[in-house]
Amino acid sequence: QTPLLQVKNLQTGFKIDGDYYNAVEGVSFDVDRKQIVGVVGESGCGKSVMSLSIMQLLPQGIGKIRGGEIAFEGADIAGLSDKKMNQIRGKDISMIFQEPMTSLNPVFTIGYQIEEVILNHEKLSKKEARKRSVSLLESVGIPRAKQIADEYPHQLSGGMRQRVMIAMAIACQPKLLIADEPTTALDVTVQAQILDLLKGVQEANDMAIIMITHDLGVVAEICDEVIVMYAGKIVERSTVDELFNHPKHPYTKLLMKAIPKMDEDVEKLATIEGLVPSIINMPEIGCRFANRCPKAMPECLSVTPQLGETAPGHEAACLLYDESWPENEKHHKEGV
Ligand code: SF4
Ligand code: MG
Repeated sequence: QTPLLQVKNLQTGFKIDGDYYNAVEGVSFDVDRKQIVGVVGESGCGKSVMSLSIMQLLPQGIGKIRGGEIAFEGADIAGLSDKKMNQIRGKDISMIFQEPMTSLNPVFTIGYQIEEVILNHEKLSKKEARKRSVSLLESVGIPRAKQIADEYPHQLSGGMRQRVMIAMAIACQPKLLIADEPTTALDVTVQAQILDLLKGVQEANDMAIIMITHDLGVVAEICDEVIVMYAGKIVERSTVDELFNHPKHPYTKLLMKAIPKMDEDVEKLATIEGLVPSIINMPEIGCRFANRCPKAMPECLSVTPQLGETAPGHEAACLLYDESWPENEKHHKEGV
């Protein structure tokens, strides 16, 4: 069966001083129907740019898909006109963001905004759309849904607003939901509730989710598969169980150490020393993680690691696991 979404060798560039630099460099992955795929990495790793590329919501005149393919249900969507993409966005693929206030319009009621999404894609009367929007609000656990439908975004808490965004995103029963850091701005208990809710709506709607997060704790909570991105590339990919039991890439191992504890909602990733290289200073050869990697070897600066299988269904891009690299065996024995 054709995967729901296939991304092949995606290259997305940003224009800086007249030149394009790739923020996403050759990313390939599939999402199956009903699957929850986590995409994890620090900010600046290209995960948001990758998802905006799928939605074709890159900033106009600045961000551009420069190569590769994006197929939804087998049909290429990377080259579609804005008009055609508008028919897909919200209907087949929806997206939710970290801060709902940026996607909600402050001057319209909650109910009106959900109805707009519905009426944009379906021929219903206003009254039917209102009925649907109230039942959507109920389905995402909003109390007094009828009354809330007549309220404005600022009247709700952050957690309630994210519930509204989820209601809006699932209004036309999309097959794929892209959730970009949907719980990052929320406090820990609300985060857990929103993750539960997402899992619930995923099951109820037979929907696939791409969950973009800097937090491997979120991945552990709800994802089936996980992609780890660093500096615009995929550095590791596997099922969630396999990743947590046998992490391979040194970057993944550091991310694991940075998983926030339940009682502290601080962003712990600062504990990985150094910074992601900027897209205008990306090394042309070698490993992009070399300047921060505790296992780096001289060769890491001159040989570019390729994503390769380290175990069935598990891939990593690191010279320590590269079969074609003669020293590979030696480092394995040293207990990497
Ligand atoms: Fe570290 Fe080298 Fe592996 Fe890159 S290739 S992650 S620098 S060991
Ligand atoms: Mg981001």
